[in-house]
Amino acid sequence: MTEITEKTRCLIIGSGPAGYTAAIYAARADLKPVMYQGMQPGGQLTITTEVDNFPGYPDGVQGPQMMEELKKQAERFKTEVRWGVVTSVDFSQRPFVVKADDGKTILAETVIIATGATAKWLGLESEKKFMGQGVSGCATCDGFFYRGQDVAIAGGGDTAAEEATYLAKLCRKVYMIHRRNELRASKAMQHKVLNTANIEMVWDSIPEEVLGDDSGVTGVRVRNVKTGEFRDLSVMGFFVAIGHKPNTEIFKGQLELDDMDYIKTRPGTATTSVEGVFACGDVQDHYYRQAITAAGTGCMAAIEAERYLSS
Ligand code: NAP
Repeated sequence: MTEITEKTRCLIIGSGPAGYTAAIYAARADLKPVMYQGMQPGGQLTITTEVDNFPGYPDGVQGPQMMEELKKQAERFKTEVRWGVVTSVDFSQRPFVVKADDGKTILAETVIIATGATAKWLGLESEKKFMGQGVSGCATCDGFFYRGQDVAIAGGGDTAAEEATYLAKLCRKVYMIHRRNELRASKAMQHKVLNTANIEMVWDSIPEEVLGDDSGVTGVRVRNVKTGEFRDLSVMGFFVAIGHKPNTEIFKGQLELDDMDYIKTRPGTATTSVEGVFACGDVQDHYYRQAITAAGTGCMAAIEAERYLSS
């Protein structure tokens, strides 16, 4: 592969709602941004189906279609969107030195990081098979589809607890499957879960198989890790909330990360510990994790990059 060195005023890493929104704003500010799409072009929304909570789509939109439209919008203003993965960054030099797997070295005056986070999954074949057809990684996004029905959620942390209580308001019954007999969630969240009448705890259990047919999920088979007994829960939706991993591997040692490896940004800004490097979307947010909040911080990152360059 021939090695090529290029210069850019603004390099965007990642292509979810945060990355594309940053691209739209940076391009319209005439920064001629270059974007590397990353391992999963379009980000996490490309593995969801219907998105009903993004403003501007009164009839909902398919996740992959929305990402395709965001890409077109970014390209309309001359963002150079590239297929490829950034493999290393050096933020100790100026311009910043960024290498990608297409053999290019980019010398960037500003870098906007929008590499997102990856949801952890149980790793079951049946979980993959019914993804988007009853298996979901986000109750806020998909809970609405299961109004009045029975659902199950796996996990015992704050996310699972929060999502279980959210689902309990919409659904008839929520089974919360946890592999131990004590929740990891904060005491306040535990209290909420354990005092919600339509949440049934399924302790000491792990999901063994997602059951379903052509119409989608019909149940979850769980195994009690203490007794070895199996139990089939009859549910239409199965939510997995066993944590996320921010995609920050290449930024370790270059930027300040928090104790869960999310990029630290100054509150209310997209500013990182290195001047000229900005972060937006789920890579710096483990709390909201929504497409619309990611897009909002993408906008902030581009405006900050533009102001940094003109200061
Ligand atoms: P987490 O705290 O890492 O909890 C993950 C849960 O999933 C744990 O209960 C874990 O079980 C379980 N788990 C992990 N891998 C599993 C597997 N392969 N099979 C079955 N179960 C598995 O993740 P999180 O709940 O997403 O929270 C992440 C961080 O964000 C935490 O610090 C949390 O406090 C914070 N958070 C805060 C709020 C809030 O303050 N409102 C809301 C959401 C998240 P074990 O317990 O047995 O390990």
